[in-house]
Amino acid sequence: MPKVQVETRVVDVVYALKGRYKRYGYPARFCLYYIDGLLIDTGPPRARQAVCDWLENKPLEQIALTHFHEDHSGNAREISRRRDVPVLMGKETAEMLADPPRLPLYRRAVWGQMDAVSGRELSDPLETAGHRFRVIPTPGHVDDHVAFIEEEKGWLFAGDLFLSNRLNYGMRGESVPKMIDSLRSVLQYPVETLFCGHSGVVADGRSALEKKLRFLEWLQEETCRLADRGLTPREISRRLLAGGKVMEWVTLGEFSSVHLIRSIMQGRG
Ligand SMILES: [Zn+2]
Repeated sequence: MPKVQVETRVVDVVYALKGRYKRYGYPARFCLYYIDGLLIDTGPPRARQAVCDWLENKPLEQIALTHFHEDHSGNAREISRRRDVPVLMGKETAEMLADPPRLPLYRRAVWGQMDAVSGRELSDPLETAGHRFRVIPTPGHVDDHVAFIEEEKGWLFAGDLFLSNRLNYGMRGESVPKMIDSLRSVLQYPVETLFCGHSGVVADGRSALEKKLRFLEWLQEETCRLADRGLTPREISRRLLAGGKVMEWVTLGEFSSVHLIRSIMQGRG
């Protein structure tokens, strides 16, 4: 097990865990959140001990997952068993995690293989003793993705909806048009603080989400313009998106800038 550095930040009654470790030189980072007996996401299997230690003195009643990926679902079964609490997830997430896919080698190496886990279906709203969270379907990163919004406080627990202001590459299957729709739908709520699954707490969350949305809209427009001129997805990604080559090589093409461009071109039919 790698040595995991854990940093805790407290915002109002939200406890944010920011974990980081190195695996074969790759800087792995993940964030999860504890609010009023509710744990949102569970971190990767490689950080299991650190996550369980962090939770030890916190009264836990329920776990909710934003999506099935191993860096979010990776300790759900273990925590659920140890603490005897239910795992709440969307229908598609539950289907994926009933029999999770065998991950590619680099993902098993960096994050670890997630376990099968069963639980209860998330219903909207999700409630704790003192808070009420709207469950918003936010596909794009993956189809099963949901985000949680606490409207009174202006909190958005975004899973992998945000990540950063822009993207240089995407995962196979990611969809820019769906990400744009999902960002627009969360922006209809009074979101102020963003709790991201990897970059941590973003105080001016609304501006950050708007920046990301503008970037993706720009990418979509430019891709369409260049596609109309007859450029291929490769040529377009070379013009519009920087870097991502090393990721493409290490992940055997599972991560690539071209996936983002293709998702836009496919959306055009
Ligand atoms: Zn993810």
